[in-house]
Amino acid sequence: MEHADTIQIAVDVPLSGTFSYLTQLPVIAGQRVLVPFGPRKLCGVVVTTMPPAGGEGTDRARLRSVEAVYDGLPPLPEEFLQLAAFAAGYYHYPLGQTLFTALPTGLRDARDVARVDERPFGLTALGLAEPPPARQKARLALWQALQDGPLTQAAARQVSAQAGKVLADWLAEGRIERVSPGRPALEVAAGPALTDEQQAALAALRAEAGFQPWLLHGVTGSGKTEVYLRLIADQLAQRRQTLLLVPEINLTPQLITRFTSRFPNARIVVQHSNLAEGERLKGWLDAWHGDADIVIGTRLSVFTPLPRLGLIVVDEEHDGSFKQQDGLRYHARDLAVWRARRNGVAIVLGSATPSLETVANAEAGRYRKLALTRRAHGAARLPDIRLVDTRRQKLAEGLAEPVVQALRQRLARREMSLVFINRRGFAPVVACGACGWTSGCPHCSAKLVVHLLERKLRCHHCGWEEAVPRACPDCGEPDIKPLGEGTQRLEAALNRHFPEARILRIDRDTTSRKDAWDEVYRRVHAGEVDILVGTQMLAKGHDFGTLSLVAVLGADGGLYSADFRASERLFAQLMQVAGRAGRADAPGEVLIQTQWPDHELYQALQRHDFDGYARQLLDERRMAGFPPSTFQALIRADAASQAEATAFLREIRAETEALAGGVLISGPAPALMARLARRERAQLVLEAGQRGALHRLVGQLLPALEAAARRHGKGLRWSVDIDPQEM
Ligand code: ADP
Ligand code: ZN
Ligand code: ZN
Repeated sequence: MEHADTIQIAVDVPLSGTFSYLTQLPVIAGQRVLVPFGPRKLCGVVVTTMPPAGGEGTDRARLRSVEAVYDGLPPLPEEFLQLAAFAAGYYHYPLGQTLFTALPTGLRDARDVARVDERPFGLTALGLAEPPPARQKARLALWQALQDGPLTQAAARQVSAQAGKVLADWLAEGRIERVSPGRPALEVAAGPALTDEQQAALAALRAEAGFQPWLLHGVTGSGKTEVYLRLIADQLAQRRQTLLLVPEINLTPQLITRFTSRFPNARIVVQHSNLAEGERLKGWLDAWHGDADIVIGTRLSVFTPLPRLGLIVVDEEHDGSFKQQDGLRYHARDLAVWRARRNGVAIVLGSATPSLETVANAEAGRYRKLALTRRAHGAARLPDIRLVDTRRQKLAEGLAEPVVQALRQRLARREMSLVFINRRGFAPVVACGACGWTSGCPHCSAKLVVHLLERKLRCHHCGWEEAVPRACPDCGEPDIKPLGEGTQRLEAALNRHFPEARILRIDRDTTSRKDAWDEVYRRVHAGEVDILVGTQMLAKGHDFGTLSLVAVLGADGGLYSADFRASERLFAQLMQVAGRAGRADAPGEVLIQTQWPDHELYQALQRHDFDGYARQLLDERRMAGFPPSTFQALIRADAASQAEATAFLREIRAETEALAGGVLISGPAPALMARLARRERAQLVLEAGQRGALHRLVGQLLPALEAAARRHGKGLRWSVDIDPQEM
């Protein structure tokens, strides 16, 4: 083949690297193309038009050719390609699959896509000078209408049913052109007068130009969103774009309304995975073409191209939904920080309970910290937190008398209460109620998980296994049991205690429907609910108005868990859930049922002392060698049997012995959730004091992983998880 260039193309297949193709058609990096791949035809993205690195041995005679170039859109922007390349490298995931994860589904298929141009048509000088002949009635009518001013395609159709064809002809003949409507002057509705703390935070943010990550640590209701709104107004005034990442559950109509009413004529694009494909694509293209001012979205929106990006905000930056748990296991907050650096812009990470990773970055001076310590709303105060010691109480079906009384009192006063039942799958640890002993691993700093069926304690970190002791090894107490048991029946118990109360239950099932939250809000604000009952979902940033009581049940399960992040999460959750109390003018009260009232987590909570407890947790992590003082990667495997998953990982582990400079390797061990969807899961934990060493090792292991996977066949699946959040 003559005059054919060799180019590199990424396709959506689970193979690392790019593929060489020939092309006689002119192509540019970032263009989508159609290529043959095995027996199929796939959409590919041109990564580079340079010959393969090293130029070694590509046999041109065997290369296949690009079959079509999709030129309905400009090539994907360089920043997008760079972000995808960075993510592929950092998360050790194939570049093609990374790129296609980052693209909206509308751009993944093998078909051309063009952007629908919605700008109206106006007459050019030529069009104006030459009216159509009078006998062409439809054309004349259109021409006359255009004389009065620009027409959209839809408006033109109202004038004549033939408008589509006529406009296309005239556009080709240069009689009409697309006119960009002049942007009206930016409108910003008035916000409240800022508090001193908000003012100070804003002044600091405005004084700094260029790349800088900021931690905006503000207690619930302290007015963080108000600070974002002011910063975004600055960006709008400079015609720059803002990317606002929010947790899945916080992307509510209420949030969008807050933005549209503050910025009535700004172009706001919403991006999340439940949007219809066409809607998502349109927003993505608008953002890419600079026709969106603000992109508000969940984790996937971190990839949205923004040519005039001026600011990134990550709200509730500690939220677990920013980490994708399958496929490309990326953390949107971390990619957002990379993007801010690449673009030389500020990034604000906001939270009432920042992640320990972010706290550590702030302590190390990489992030700058701004604090909002008081609620913005004049009268609102932080709630009083009381610990109800269940060791000294007779429980009625799991409920302590003071909790029952407090609920009854609120019912009598017709005030709404919230009951938070902590039921998340904290991997259960065995504890002694008498002396406080918990089941720790003799070989590492992890806790042992109890597997009741087999009466075994297992370390998910190093793989150690032992029998469940019959009595407490420290004090001999025979009554030792898994922590966090018995939350299941609490809800039914509430119904029996308060048959007259209107109880509304909130969980994944009741809120999975699209408008479910609207209905919840409606009922709550219409005063149709006496007691809200729910799990983790209630801990997120919802405003339920006048809540005067929050009762927390079953929290102890998170105190001593095999998951080293459990106490960080429990503390954050309880702080967030406590923040639901007393948001309006009534002071709130929080009651926590516990058999460990002296535990530092509860003590710190009672003092509303996030910083103190975070520091203590960071010290513990440092001593145990856990993140953020170290860096982790997990190599997971799942198969029909634990034996097969473990055998695979043992082979991988054998490979690491020669390579593992400065990396600690533990396992294979069963995953915390050892059995999921009828498959057995196991893992290797890789830990290092330096990111570089960890990434080098993972990179070197990839060929071994691929080879071992081929030996084991289709029944075995494996994955790499960098900076894992779930063990
Ligand atoms: P956060 O994002 O920290 O939870 P918000 O920005 O949502 O806080 O503010 C909490 C409540 O306080 C909202 O109802 C908001 O309208 C109000 N608010 C925020 N800033 C002020 C202020 N400076 N003065 C009065 N009310 C404010
Ligand atoms: Zn004991
Ligand atoms: Zn161990």
